[in-house]
Amino acid sequence: MPDLLSPSARRIVAGLPVFDAHADSLQRALDLGHDLGRATPGHFDLERGRRGGLGALVFVAWVDPSYIAPERGGARRRTEALLAEFHRLIERHPDAVRWAGNGAMLDAAREARCLAGIPGIEGGHSIEGRIDVLEAFFERGVRVMTLVWNNHLAWIRSCQPGAGPEVPAGLSDFGREVVRTMNALGMVVDVSHAGVRSFHDVLATSSKPVIASHSGCMAQSEHPRNLTDDQLRALRDTGGVVGIVFCTPFLDAAARAEETRLRESEAYRALTGENATALFCAQAAFLQREARPLPIARVLEHIVHAVDVCGVDHVGLGSDYDGIQRTPQGLEDASCYGNLADGLLARGFAEADVVKILGGNMERVFRAATGPGTRAFQYGPATNSSQLGFGPRSSALERRRAGAEPEL
Ligand SMILES: [Zn+2]
Repeated sequence: MPDLLSPSARRIVAGLPVFDAHADSLQRALDLGHDLGRATPGHFDLERGRRGGLGALVFVAWVDPSYIAPERGGARRRTEALLAEFHRLIERHPDAVRWAGNGAMLDAAREARCLAGIPGIEGGHSIEGRIDVLEAFFERGVRVMTLVWNNHLAWIRSCQPGAGPEVPAGLSDFGREVVRTMNALGMVVDVSHAGVRSFHDVLATSSKPVIASHSGCMAQSEHPRNLTDDQLRALRDTGGVVGIVFCTPFLDAAARAEETRLRESEAYRALTGENATALFCAQAAFLQREARPLPIARVLEHIVHAVDVCGVDHVGLGSDYDGIQRTPQGLEDASCYGNLADGLLARGFAEADVVKILGGNMERVFRAATGPGTRAFQYGPATNSSQLGFGPRSSALERRRAGAEPEL
């Protein structure tokens, strides 16, 4: 696909401008043993990302709520296992990917033409209701947290129906403490999946711009995961950014209806896998094969709508690669972002604005969230992932035990 790009799009992509705010590839690494530094099935690996112009990627640790149960080990443990895969990837491929804990580290990665890898958590259940666990994840390198997934929490309501009486209408006092702690540490606050009241409570609480890392526009396609024009304007007014998602059922009502029908088919229900991730991949292959292709134009329409409503400085990308089961045509994997550049150029966007949408806007929020006054800002550009407690050489915990000063 990249061979078909216009010279302008090729030039844009060569600068590695893409900051993709959401991808779920760590699950393939953990559950299927995929080395994301080599050609793997699925949507992302380092080589395809580089071809697609990917300069920064949020590697999300998403924990299925079933892991909350003690007999499954708890959400924190599963989160740690996913984050360990992120650090393993860096150790295996130090010339191709680096941990980026703040803006200076992102610059250093780009200078070295490495992918800036930013660990994220999707779903506040990972912190198990404890601020000290949130802090521990920060120290392990996490710089983004999607406050809530589709399961409601005792401190924040999701966008999905079915909340019990124990769930607050929006953000609870503890939820506000979570947001303030993230601001102080230097973590990007992500409101994708949050209920509307939660969304506005978070924006009112956060001292820094926030992101909706992977959502679409409600005016383009009615889905609880998409943002209304009011929400888009609220993001704009607080300096935030929406990352337009590539998830076909969010983007298009007809695609959603067709996929619902396909999921009810016997062939779909007969699919199996050795674990949940293997099954997910089998289902993804089925849907990709059986459903009518969704043109890339639908993604572009969401982007253009968001720009119309909240301006070109507040729109970015959050593909949800490896977390979605079907991709739009022309966005099949992480080598394809250049097609979006071409689509935007064809719609009359200036090159500088295309670069903002591909990554510049997300990068701005990341720099602000991890900037002066935060703990994240104190990390030197040369801090590597082995200093975060995952590497074989040393760990922050061991250094503390030994009484050594942390090398921040
Ligand atoms: Zn999600």
